[in-house]
Amino acid sequence: LSASVENAASDANTFHGIVITHPERVIDPSSGLTKLDIARYYDAVAPFILPYLKDRPVYLLRSPGGLSGKAFFQRHAIRAAIPGIQLLDPSVDPEHEPLMVINSAQALIGAAQMGSLELHSCNATADMLDRPDCMVFDLDPDPNLPWKRIAESAKLTRQLLDELGLTCFLKTSGSKGLHLIVPLARRHDWESVTQFSKALAQHLANTIPGHFIASMGEENRVGKIYIDYLRNSKMASTVVPYSTRARNGLPVAVPIAWEELDDIKGSAMWNIVSIQERLVRQKSDPWQDFFSTRQILTKSMRKALGII
Ligand code: ATP
Ligand code: MN
Ligand code: MN
Repeated sequence: LSASVENAASDANTFHGIVITHPERVIDPSSGLTKLDIARYYDAVAPFILPYLKDRPVYLLRSPGGLSGKAFFQRHAIRAAIPGIQLLDPSVDPEHEPLMVINSAQALIGAAQMGSLELHSCNATADMLDRPDCMVFDLDPDPNLPWKRIAESAKLTRQLLDELGLTCFLKTSGSKGLHLIVPLARRHDWESVTQFSKALAQHLANTIPGHFIASMGEENRVGKIYIDYLRNSKMASTVVPYSTRARNGLPVAVPIAWEELDDIKGSAMWNIVSIQERLVRQKSDPWQDFFSTRQILTKSMRKALGII
């Protein structure tokens, strides 16, 4: 290789000053997508994903060897530093190595360089970890359930939230189910959000038992959807919008508008390639009002759910 060809090659593998090593490594054998494809993806979607990562502790599902390699879930910084990553003051989570935050495109690429295949975040920001800023309903279907039933269940959950006076936002998990996110003002502690979400899940399971179950365990889930409200606790996490998933085809979690739900064919409808077309074409952000929506869980809502 001449020096100029070599330089061109290394430029193509460098994003925000971070060199992607083993760019040609196949991460997903089913599609042939490589580590470089993932880095390019995160480079392209940085403006879309960074607002959802901003100031939140992030957990990484890393699998440097790709989907057929050994994966591990990393909640705290470890010795091999991730380039660009921000570390929180150890007092935020004592007795552990510092929590991590991705607040820049460089850190995002750094995470990709370190073999991250999924980004999960806390439902609270680092400066106020005791006050969640959203409540999450993670709809976990029996894997044999037709997609229509999953979509219908999301609508039913939204209907109940609507009746209570709460706006919720919808996203595909990029895997099997759907996530409904209720933005909150940072007023409530975890205990009250857990209690509220549990009561809501139980209300759905009691009133529409053909669709929902509010208790864990695969055996309970046959023909139904488990409304997983356990995301609503301090160190729990939810996959970040636009994160890749460590699954065949490298699907991504995608924020969608409620009006789109009937056209969605499955949770893994978009992958790191097809989502880019959607983002280029999309005229408005389906979660346009997400960051300006700040809701309070009121006494009358609690009453309606039978908590008080
Ligand atoms: P699906 O649509 O298949 O349910 P999901 O992202 O909702 O996809 P769940 O199994 O419901 O997946 O997981 C809920 C959350 O648990 C994840 O979003 C993530 O934050 C957390 N989680 C995922 N993997 C791990 C892990 N290996 N260890 C601990 N927590 C994890
Ligand atoms: Mn789920
Ligand atoms: Mn779940």
